[in-house]
Amino acid sequence: MRRTIFGFVVIVLFQAILLSGCTGDAAAGQPPVEEEDFMMGTVITQKVYGAGAADAVKEVSAKLKDIESRMTINQPGGEVNRLNAAAGKEAVVLSGETLGVLETAVRYSELSSGAFDVTIGPLVKAWGVFTDQPRVPEKGELERLMKLTDYRRLKIDRGHSSAQLEIEGQIADLGGIAKGHAGDEAIAIYRKHGVKSAYINLGGNVVVLGKKPDGTPWRIGIQNPRGPSQSYLGIVTVEDKAVVSSGDYERYFEKDGVRYHHILDPKTGYPASSGLIGTSIIADVSMDADALSTATFVLGLEKGMKLVNSLQGVEAIFVTEEKEIYVTEGLKGNFKFTDQSGEFRYVEKS
Ligand code: AMP
Ligand code: MG
Repeated sequence: MRRTIFGFVVIVLFQAILLSGCTGDAAAGQPPVEEEDFMMGTVITQKVYGAGAADAVKEVSAKLKDIESRMTINQPGGEVNRLNAAAGKEAVVLSGETLGVLETAVRYSELSSGAFDVTIGPLVKAWGVFTDQPRVPEKGELERLMKLTDYRRLKIDRGHSSAQLEIEGQIADLGGIAKGHAGDEAIAIYRKHGVKSAYINLGGNVVVLGKKPDGTPWRIGIQNPRGPSQSYLGIVTVEDKAVVSSGDYERYFEKDGVRYHHILDPKTGYPASSGLIGTSIIADVSMDADALSTATFVLGLEKGMKLVNSLQGVEAIFVTEEKEIYVTEGLKGNFKFTDQSGEFRYVEKS
């Protein structure tokens, strides 16, 4: 997908994509129910097998729409906009679902020492990467907005089912985690309908249920951050997992030859430049993987690796701007290096 707007180029690619020809459709005997929607600012693809598939797919599409309307800050209405409008004024009562996502976002903000910051909204709005008129803000403006970026000033009160942003002008932005949550909700709906085998890709957030219908694990391609879409650096083989990727190639604009991407460093106000160009996280819970992919992208290789290694059952793939690929210890037997460009190097030593 490529749009040219006012001289800026916005490119949306899908980092982790189901490898075509590996779905085992034929072995299953029955084709999957497939659905493609444009929601949450991206293309969402579902591929669902078995008797309950058609109903499950429909319910998932409706649920994703619901999540988007509750959690977006790019359209009016919804719960997060309500929270933001009351910043510096009062606490607002929110659904348990939205509170849960906010809580997880705060937890990863803490775990990453603010590399992931759920209150990144003012900076995201200033750069306008999601608008038709992205811009490079003045340093002074960024410094002012960085003061509003402070997850410690988002207070959640489960007892009253409410949340409050304490500083006027603060904006919570769930863009780095909401698609992850949506993936978990999708899997829960598939299960509810008795589905045993399903795949959903929310713009680079892949989540799979069970195995492929032919009984073999899913093979998920890890996008080459500098290659055309669907050129892979490697393949991971998974079942019942989320494989979530973040990168500087997913959404960006260029001005005067400089690339400005959509993942911001709360400590500088500028797009993160930690030395990574892509991160992929493999975990049981897609929401965790989503927060971690964004967090580790900001943290960089060393700190990102340390954070992932401190968590149970989480694996990662990091791609550096030197075009080196590093994976966590637990993934070493399960990452197949497949780069065809010849530009990347798989560094197997830890
Ligand atoms: P992802 O594609 O999951 O890495 O998320 C990127 C999105 O998360 C951006 O489009 C912003 O909406 C938001 N975001 C950007 N930088 C940060 C950050 N440092 N912490 C939390 N969310 C961020
Ligand atoms: Mg993310």
